[in-house]
Amino acid sequence: MSYTRHHFVNGKEQEGTSGRFAPVFNPSLGQQVGKVALASKSEMEDIISESAKAAELWAATSVVKRGRVMQNMVQLMYRDLDKIAESLAHEHGKVFTDAQGEVQRGIDALEFAQGVPHLMKGEYSDNVAGGIDLYSMRKPLGVVGVITPFNFPIMIPGWASVAIACGNAVVLKPSERDPSSPLLFAELWSEAGLPDGVLNVVNGDKEAVDTLCTDPRIKAVSFVGSTPIARHVYSTSTANGKRCQAFGGAKNHMVIMPDADLDQTADALIGAAYGSAGERCMAISVAVVVGDATADALIEKLTPRVVNLKVRNSMDLEAEMGPLVTAEARDRVKGYIDMASSEGATVVVDGRNFKCDIEGFENGFFLGGTLLDNVTSDMTSYKDEIFGPTLQVVRVNTFEEAIALPTNHEYGNGTSIFTRDGDTAREYANRVEVGMVGINVPIPVPLSFYTFGGWKASSFGDINQYGMEGVRFYTKSKTVTSRWPTGIRAGAEFNIPTLNS
Ligand code: NAD
Repeated sequence: MSYTRHHFVNGKEQEGTSGRFAPVFNPSLGQQVGKVALASKSEMEDIISESAKAAELWAATSVVKRGRVMQNMVQLMYRDLDKIAESLAHEHGKVFTDAQGEVQRGIDALEFAQGVPHLMKGEYSDNVAGGIDLYSMRKPLGVVGVITPFNFPIMIPGWASVAIACGNAVVLKPSERDPSSPLLFAELWSEAGLPDGVLNVVNGDKEAVDTLCTDPRIKAVSFVGSTPIARHVYSTSTANGKRCQAFGGAKNHMVIMPDADLDQTADALIGAAYGSAGERCMAISVAVVVGDATADALIEKLTPRVVNLKVRNSMDLEAEMGPLVTAEARDRVKGYIDMASSEGATVVVDGRNFKCDIEGFENGFFLGGTLLDNVTSDMTSYKDEIFGPTLQVVRVNTFEEAIALPTNHEYGNGTSIFTRDGDTAREYANRVEVGMVGINVPIPVPLSFYTFGGWKASSFGDINQYGMEGVRFYTKSKTVTSRWPTGIRAGAEFNIPTLNS
């Protein structure tokens, strides 16, 4: 059965009128299952007008009421967790249990946002000068644009709950590759009591994104996706006077010291490199192993596990890894494996010729896990983000050589170190030029009461996602300095005051 996804505006589905559509696939089947409308500039402009009306009323809604909508939304997300997970697994291809985890991570941001009455509190200084008090307030920005990638179609739109909690209206432009779950998300917000128009979801491509970056009614743009588009969104939005945070691609290194527990390390690497078929911005794609003996021992442990990865349809509950999102994504990753091999890397496990032999899924966009050894930092396949189920092993001799690799890499999203030595771990965490660090934790995604954001080409702009940084991004501060003239403290006077009294 083929379906068409449209937009969600003012609390209900709104049919796209541009006549332009993008195909939607079920990557496990390897088939087109639907299409999604792509908004034109003029559709976007009309929708932004609706959002602007909603923004005024929502900003004036008490912070306690806004917090209650967040609480309702948390409950509804738990209620529909499996339904949303199934929807996103169908269109993204990640396995169902991983999709459940993703929805949970979206709820995590909502749980933070429900504390908005506390989060929006300002400061107050009494009597900063004779009779003068000084205080600050956090005010919403108005209408903000949120543009999200295909790989977390619920978790990353979930980060926008901070924008909503702070009293803004959001125009969400999700990825056109997996549009169904963001629409379910929008429906739930309405059920939770969010007034119409506070969250409008518009499907689209460059035309929609560029409208958000240039329309003067959009006060801030939050973007997550690949680095070239992040750069474009950041430069266009800021050139148009907007606040912008734009998160880009990644190449995350895990350093393995000779004293690491290698069984624990191998477990961690299998999940972090091949989970979600490597299509995570926090996936580990490079293992930097200190010492040849450690590298040989680790590769021996990893090899059979990579060979035996259960690569299956995303709704198979035994599956460890599903397909890639599109045939193009799969072929791109294959191309990088070809490149690595021609650059001199050793292909220890080759996922290029993987064929799914389960009936019905023979045409899925599957790729087996790939393990590459003897990768070096001058290779293009090392420098680029591959974004697939491929782990590259770089061998080094010392800790200093190890820490230099993520530090000097163009990207700086996440990294981790596996060691039993506290001093080495502490030194690594302090010195490495990367935004999020794990110590014996492979994917160090901070919970919502901290903050998320990489460094270097993984992030443009200064302010991170969620946590108090998110509150700062989605609000502007106002300070008030006040002095009151002497009042009538003595109370009512019953006599006519005389001039000389
Ligand atoms: P993408 O850059 O192709 O798309 C992201 C968004 O930009 C989508 O909504 C898309 O419609 C829009 N877009 C695409 N082309 C555009 C163009 N030419 N002009 C304007 N807008 C355009 O990214 P993707 O393939 O959906 O997602 C994968 C990428 O996102 C990877 O590079 C991954 O590392 C990155 N990512 C980063 C983070 C992070 O927090 N740093 C998190 C998740 C994903």
